[in-house]
Amino acid sequence: MYGEQLRRTLADLWRKHYSELLCAAEERATKKLKEKELEFGNTMRRNAKLEQQVAQFRMEAQVWKAQVENLEEKTWSLRASLHEAKLRGGSTDEVRELGCAGCKEAHQEEAAESSFVDPDRVDPVRLECKACEKRVATVMMWPCRHVCVCVRCDAVSKTCPVCLFPKTTSVEVCLPCGTK
Ligand SMILES: [Zn+2]
Ligand SMILES: [Zn+2]
Repeated sequence: MYGEQLRRTLADLWRKHYSELLCAAEERATKKLKEKELEFGNTMRRNAKLEQQVAQFRMEAQVWKAQVENLEEKTWSLRASLHEAKLRGGSTDEVRELGCAGCKEAHQEEAAESSFVDPDRVDPVRLECKACEKRVATVMMWPCRHVCVCVRCDAVSKTCPVCLFPKTTSVEVCLPCGTK
């Protein structure tokens, strides 16, 4: 009889302990599940945020691309302007002015349309004698200072053939190109 009671008590204790264990395990599992759910939610949120950023980057990249294209176009037309300025024998000042990207468009039109002549610009100087138009002009008239006649024409000229100013004297000049 006593043995039977002991056995039952033990069985009860065991059952109680077992159910406690089960309960604790269940609690742990639920907790873990909740953590995982939270983590998953965070991951999803992070993904959404990343996707948003990717979309934004993509948009920014497109804006940059458009700007680069715009700049390339500007560079191209600027280069064309510079080329044109060089062809027209533009001075370095003019070229430098054209180089300013900020006011490029205005200058571009100016350069294309204006008949502005830089007084310092190097023009191919016509060196033939203004009197005979055959030989090279190497004589400077005085006082008008026009280098406009050859030595032979100078000998018979009393006025400058360019400005018709009476000559008081004349000087033979040395040209840097060696023509004389
Ligand atoms: Zn001459
Ligand atoms: Zn003269």
